Amino acid sequence: MSNLPAEFRQRMQVQLGQKESLSFENALTGTIPVSIQRNPYKNSDGTRINRPVPWHADGEYLPSRPVFTLDPDFQAGAYYVQEASSMFVGWLARQHLPQNRPWKVLDLCAAPGGKSCLLASIMPAGSLLVSNEVIKNRYGILKYNLAKWGLANCWTTNLDPERFTNLTGFFDLVVVDAPCSGEGMFRKDPNAIKEWSTEHVELCGLRQERILAAAAPLVSKDGVLIYSTCTYNRRENEQQIEWLNQHQDFEVLDAVPPSEWKINHENSSYRFYPHQTEGEGFFAFAARPNKGTGGRYKRKRPGHWVQLKKSESGLAESLLENPELYDYYRNKAGMIYAMERRWTEEMEILVAALGRIDLGFPVGEVKGKQIVPAAELALHTARRKDLASYSVDRKTALRLLKKETPPLPSLERGWHLITYNGNGLLWVKGLGNRYNNYYPAGWRIRMEVQ
Ligand code: SAM
Repeated sequence: MSNLPAEFRQRMQVQLGQKESLSFENALTGTIPVSIQRNPYKNSDGTRINRPVPWHADGEYLPSRPVFTLDPDFQAGAYYVQEASSMFVGWLARQHLPQNRPWKVLDLCAAPGGKSCLLASIMPAGSLLVSNEVIKNRYGILKYNLAKWGLANCWTTNLDPERFTNLTGFFDLVVVDAPCSGEGMFRKDPNAIKEWSTEHVELCGLRQERILAAAAPLVSKDGVLIYSTCTYNRRENEQQIEWLNQHQDFEVLDAVPPSEWKINHENSSYRFYPHQTEGEGFFAFAARPNKGTGGRYKRKRPGHWVQLKKSESGLAESLLENPELYDYYRNKAGMIYAMERRWTEEMEILVAALGRIDLGFPVGEVKGKQIVPAAELALHTARRKDLASYSVDRKTALRLLKKETPPLPSLERGWHLITYNGNGLLWVKGLGNRYNNYYPAGWRIRMEVQ
């Protein structure tokens, strides 16, 4: 590959050896693998996985890259488009955490949400995920992708990692998928090549140390810290392990992946090269604190929400499959949220420690005697299964997702969930001889539908 920065190329020649670095460079001009993770809690298109990603049971390589935007299954959150190597984080988590009890998970650098969706899919029943993104204009896409994934136990925050300081030892798993110099993305993203410099690598290294300094104390005794990047250099990878050894009392954990996966497994860390594994460049390690920390946490009720009395939550309850599991809250804009009651203590601890946190999931807004269901609820797995629904074909689904109103023959009056392949997409309200499409304008597909 001719446009690689000279310093990067030289370093890779040293890192891999002259001969292997040629194979590496050739791979950078080769085909870009396309992979998705299927949502185990939704219907995929019913087909079995043809070419599984070895380290993630719901991961699949596709033969070519479709126009994902024009696939209603994608819009319904039946799958997420995710680079295969990065799915390894799920395998690592499962190696080092027990499967027979719930986990409390913090995904500290979470947008756009690929690893959060993956973690939410592999966590044992009853687990809780807090998904955080510090950059405000990336927070919206994180919330949208998690809304599409549709699970009740994924909460989001928009905070600097240092704001988590009062949650020492609170989480069983903290994932730091660190912002990095992106060398592993050179094949997929030509801009990553343009933006690369040795100075940027150093800047990233320093930022990663700051994030690790905030993240490491949050891991409980017996818990796990997973650190990952999509870059190859030692500064942002092995040197972060060294930094952790020097500044925090952690033991790096080892688990041996099958050799046929061709992952570069050395000194308890894992490196993915595109000439060896079918995926982009990636690096990860897992570590555990040697000492227990944490203990007592302050608790506080969420100030920005009003909890509804039983007499006020009936309309919201009527939209959920197991309404008795939740407490109901109304935010200042009038949206009712459902919050699993079993997480009340955790909610109060997180509110006391973090202030603002987006808890639970939106159910709907009461207007007069009716409830206008939330757009997110159309995509949510906690939605009641026997609500009035209307199944559509691909073309109609796409027109509805464009916020158009194609003919829906014999649609009755009232609210209907539009479904495609068994998955909820959006709400319409039949008005007799016409209907209104309640898909949010901000989510609508802007592409031409063929
Ligand atoms: N985990 C994500 C996924 O799987 O979709 C990708 C995360 S990306 C590699 C790193 C994220 O860290 C970005 O969303 C970026 O905005 C965020 N970030 C940037 N600076 C940060 C900082 N100082 N602390 C924490 N996160 C930061």
